[in-house]
Amino acid sequence: MTAYPPSWYAATAHTAPPRPALDGSVDCDVAVIGGGYTGLSSALALARAGHDVRLIEAAKIGWGASGRNGGQAIPGLRKGAAELIDQFGEAPARALNAIGDRARDHFWDLIARENIDCDARRGHVQAAAHPADMAHLRAEITAYQRLGGTGTPVIVEKPDLPAHIASAAYHGGLFDPGAGHVHPLKLALGLATAAERAGAVLHEDTAATAISGATVTTSRGQLRARTVILACDGGIGALAPDLARKVMAVGNSIIATEPLGDMAAKLLPSDAAVADTRFVLDYFRRSADGRLLFAGGEKYLPGAPANVPAFVRPHMLRVFPQLKDARIDYGWSGDVTITLSRFAEVGRRGDVIHAHGYSGQGVMLGCLMGTLIAEALAGNGATFDRLAALPTPAFPGGALLRTPLHVAGMLWYALRDRL
Ligand SMILES: Cc1cc2nc3c(=O)[nH]c(=O)nc-3n(C[C@H](O)[C@H](O)[C@H](O)COP(=O)(O)OP(=O)(O)OC[C@H]3O[C@@H](n4cnc5c(N)ncnc54)[C@H](O)[C@@H]3O)c2cc1C
Repeated sequence: MTAYPPSWYAATAHTAPPRPALDGSVDCDVAVIGGGYTGLSSALALARAGHDVRLIEAAKIGWGASGRNGGQAIPGLRKGAAELIDQFGEAPARALNAIGDRARDHFWDLIARENIDCDARRGHVQAAAHPADMAHLRAEITAYQRLGGTGTPVIVEKPDLPAHIASAAYHGGLFDPGAGHVHPLKLALGLATAAERAGAVLHEDTAATAISGATVTTSRGQLRARTVILACDGGIGALAPDLARKVMAVGNSIIATEPLGDMAAKLLPSDAAVADTRFVLDYFRRSADGRLLFAGGEKYLPGAPANVPAFVRPHMLRVFPQLKDARIDYGWSGDVTITLSRFAEVGRRGDVIHAHGYSGQGVMLGCLMGTLIAEALAGNGATFDRLAALPTPAFPGGALLRTPLHVAGMLWYALRDRL
């Protein structure tokens, strides 16, 4: 059996029952490929809707981004209300903004309804890395309210920021009580259990190698389905090379300190998760056992740095110099799948539905995606279609050049952060 890569998440997740590999060929209504939030939420929603669902995962449930991410649960479609208005105009922006709000409400309802024990906490701060960012955050709240947003984000002025973050690195922020944080691997495993309770059958250690019509081939047999859900995020290239032109993998790394005792609540008194406003952002939060989980640093290629703690720790110390003597117990990496527009790549081609590329904001939206896919299969696909219509152009440069060209672009933005 494949083992999880070492991380604080793998060390603290609930033990899960073995989910045997597919053995032989099977007929089913829906074949789901990928055991992250997209695939698991699809299996859950479709099994609830009465479909006979099989899910196959190449490694283990939550092995990909869903079991390694920062756990920051942030509503929205990755672009703020002001950007949506600029790009699409007020009426379309209003409809898109409402999907982001729906992702938030659905997320907290899902955790409560399915009784998922994933250390869920409400509260999130977007911290202003530069004084000028405060004007953007104020404009964002105004735009969000103009679009009829149902959340209640508020500005936190610099003098009030210590109620959330004990750091001199920031100039204020935006506090959103509807956002929050979770243990991402526990969330994935909880979704898997819920999907099984609803009747879905899950197989680990079963990689799809080809799709033909609605038949999925694996090295262990075939799934002969009526509909296929492609939910493999960064793994999409092997199964749908044309879709791979629209996404790129960017490496991102996280460290966990030793348990900090009283210091943890001093660093982050409100227990809100934090992400800063920079293009290449730092983000961090407390863990349930009183560690600081911190992500930072720039690596524009897939894969892990050779020494994750050495790579990330300087960024943590810039924000929290108080931690200069804190031991780092864990460091791990994952690939964030991004699109050029930063909108998720969602669509339907014949009997095959795909959704991936949430561009670093897939915790809430990935968990909603299964419900949207189930609605689409039931003939009520307006929301799914709205997401499918969002622009997700291919990265320029083709297979060989798209990574270097994008790296050059990212470096420019990162440099701008420092000016
Ligand atoms: C380090 C990191 C930090 C992040 N932080 C945040 C955050 O704080 N907040 C946030 O909202 N988002 C964050 N994200 C993004 C978020 O984790 C993802 O958008 C989300 O988990 C994607 O879910 P998914 O189900 O689409 O993909 P995944 O979770 O990657 O699942 C895809 C699964 O498909 C499997 N697979 C691939 N190919 C095949 C195949 N051929 N056959 C069978 N199975 C296959 C993989 O093994 C994998 O388990 C982060 C991502 C990373 C990597």
